[in-house]
Amino acid sequence: MAWQKRLHTVGWVAPQWPVEYGGRGLGIVDQIACDRVLALHRAPLPLGGVLGLNNVAPTLMRYGTPEQKAHLAAIQAGTELWCQGFSEPGAGSDLASLRTRAELVGEGHDTEFVINGSKVWTSEGMDATHCLLLARTDPQAPAHRGISALLVPLDTPGITRRPIKMITGESGFAEMFFDDVRVPRSALLGPLHEGWKVTMTTLGFERAGVIELAAGLEQSVGDLVDGLAGRDLDEETRVALTDRLVEARLVGLLGSRSLARIAAGGAPGAEHSVIKLLWSRAMQRQGESHLFALGFDGVLAAPGRRAQHDYLLSRSATIAGGTTEIMKNILAERVLGMPR
Ligand SMILES: Cc1cc2nc3c(=O)[nH]c(=O)nc-3n(C[C@H](O)[C@H](O)[C@H](O)COP(=O)(O)OP(=O)(O)OC[C@H]3O[C@@H](n4cnc5c(N)ncnc54)[C@H](O)[C@@H]3O)c2cc1C
Repeated sequence: MAWQKRLHTVGWVAPQWPVEYGGRGLGIVDQIACDRVLALHRAPLPLGGVLGLNNVAPTLMRYGTPEQKAHLAAIQAGTELWCQGFSEPGAGSDLASLRTRAELVGEGHDTEFVINGSKVWTSEGMDATHCLLLARTDPQAPAHRGISALLVPLDTPGITRRPIKMITGESGFAEMFFDDVRVPRSALLGPLHEGWKVTMTTLGFERAGVIELAAGLEQSVGDLVDGLAGRDLDEETRVALTDRLVEARLVGLLGSRSLARIAAGGAPGAEHSVIKLLWSRAMQRQGESHLFALGFDGVLAAPGRRAQHDYLLSRSATIAGGTTEIMKNILAERVLGMPR
């Protein structure tokens, strides 16, 4: 938070945001260059970095009313922490089947939504102050329609949050329950029943996110190898680490290629779709190689130590943000043009 405050004072919390919202209007190339420099110096990520600054904020900029846009300043200052309430126990990959209901009741100025349902796997859910919630507002409409995006303060009566302990021992993850939660109609972000479109339009920012994944992998493998310097590694481990470096370089190059295309005014190519898939596998192999390289030291170290933590956390890489199978479906159908 101290770091975010310092960045905020000099206007560098979200340099990718347009100047009118307190950013510096950096294009994707400069944005990524800036993130690389910060990562090189091991700068901490701003509070709610990915969810608030990169996902919720662009959606607010695009669809928010002037009152709703007031949240942008609080996101930048770190006084509001946002989470995304999308997934439900029965709706993950098939998000459009979500069942949390938001019923519009009342008349005139007193119209409000009454929300009932539950959300799960909410990152930062225990610490967040606000949630960008997807709920069904028209149960009769086809699955992708009839969903609305709502801005919900998490201290609203009727909301219960429970921590989900991760395999790493951390518990920022939450499940959230909504029992007759009432929010005013002004909580609606974008048009009624068009929440799907509203939340799927942060494409420009997702592009940067995927390229950053690719760049980050190269750096983390480099750090891993540096950290093992001086250890007496056997041949098998050295080969595995070389493979990790090659893999990371490959993903990094795909990221650079995607960036070059976008910088030249084009659209990201197939490499963009393949990065998440390769990145998640590479993350998992990296975690395995690290533990393997440390041998007993890695396994017997106190729980939560870096190698163990990264290994356990890497298991989620093939699930979060779209599972491997879903990534493959997207590649097959949208990139290779194969039949469903
Ligand atoms: C670390 C982490 C952070 C997360 N953060 C958030 C968050 O902040 N907010 C939020 O809303 N959600 C979050 N999620 C949830 C995440 O979006 C879902 O876990 C993910 O979309 C998969 O959904 P699911 O868990 O319901 O699995 P399911 O969709 O039930 O999938 C189960 C299995 O079936 C496979 N499968 C499903 N459909 C198909 C298909 N059509 N073809 C082939 N295989 C298929 C999947 O690949 C998977 O192996 C997070 C998850 C993780 C792990």
